[in-house]
Amino acid sequence: MKYLVLIGDGMGDYPVESLGNRTPLQAAHAPAMRGIAAAGKLYQLHTVPPGLPPGSDVCNMGLLGYNAAENYTGRAPIEAAGAGIPLQPGDVAFRCNLVTVREGRMVDYSAGHISSEEGDALIRAVAAELEDDGLTFYPGISYRHLLVWHKGPESIDSQPPHDIADQSVTPHLPVGDRAAEIHALMERSKAILANHPVNQARAAAGQEQATQIWLWGQGRSLQLPSFQTLYGLSGGVITAVDLVRGLGRLAGLETPVVEGATGFVDTNYAGKVEAAKQILAQHPYVYVHVEAPDECGHMGDAALKTQAISDFDAQVVAPLWQHMEALGEPYRLILAMDHRTPVSLRGHTDEPVPFVVLDGPVGVAARQKQAPFDEAAMLGAPEARSYELMKNILQAVQAE
Ligand SMILES: [Zn+2]
Repeated sequence: MKYLVLIGDGMGDYPVESLGNRTPLQAAHAPAMRGIAAAGKLYQLHTVPPGLPPGSDVCNMGLLGYNAAENYTGRAPIEAAGAGIPLQPGDVAFRCNLVTVREGRMVDYSAGHISSEEGDALIRAVAAELEDDGLTFYPGISYRHLLVWHKGPESIDSQPPHDIADQSVTPHLPVGDRAAEIHALMERSKAILANHPVNQARAAAGQEQATQIWLWGQGRSLQLPSFQTLYGLSGGVITAVDLVRGLGRLAGLETPVVEGATGFVDTNYAGKVEAAKQILAQHPYVYVHVEAPDECGHMGDAALKTQAISDFDAQVVAPLWQHMEALGEPYRLILAMDHRTPVSLRGHTDEPVPFVVLDGPVGVAARQKQAPFDEAAMLGAPEARSYELMKNILQAVQAE
């Protein structure tokens, strides 16, 4: 038995007026997803355990078959694993964004999607001033960096900057034990960045400047039992983002780097499909994650999100379903999303999302049928929680 899990990050949404009061999933050209819905079993899936934030980290954990309620320590430690940064006992990892705050408002959580080269120079300048015995900054991609703080504050409630777009930052500063130390670092970064040549050049070019760092998503290192131990399956995770790669690494799964995988609508879909086929040639399990619909949701762009879903259908779902059918072996295909990223909110919600599991091969005739795969169609379907459902799906066949 082969297992293929296909995830369109943040595909779920609400009806959008500019789409004729349809959701992006309903408006998209998605014959492959609707074919899988017709041939498979539809669920109404709850992906966010009570009390946890509706982040891609928590939601992908459940879809991978891990209990986030038991294992989750924060977003940054997962990204650290994805970037290969080791955490020692007592270390607390923070996500460190370069952001644009103007007149006290969060103008841009990404400092204008600053380039990696510019971001690297700015984070190194911040590190040169702020690093001491306990603090280490790790430059990452674009605006996304990490801070590892030995014996740093961890009983903290912090806010993702992408969830407070255009809002006043003061009410959203980290709160909790030793929060003042975090505020101080963020405050001190302002003067370091203010007159940095990279920012001067960006201002001259009419681009957003990185005005400060924003620390969030903190947590201690986490260990996950290996996927092999839990489910008796080897395999891999195909993704462009460190967060999901980190989960794959922590699960002991292969995480090949796909050239040209950007996490956006210009990603190398064909390369991701090829990488998934290579994993399946050697292993029984592969998890394919596509980030673009989520990014379009955060941009608030309904048309682009609809296009991203159509592209996911045509360039990932269709060829991989065809591949599984052509192999002629028994397989189980899961089609899902981790959460909704409504374009009207430009952030995540914790409402349920559609989910399908299909046992194949189903043959040519069955593949011609179509059924809706969207937020309305799932309302009549059985409800389930992602970790519990995936655990059953992954173990059911093992037990037979
Ligand atoms: Zn997500």
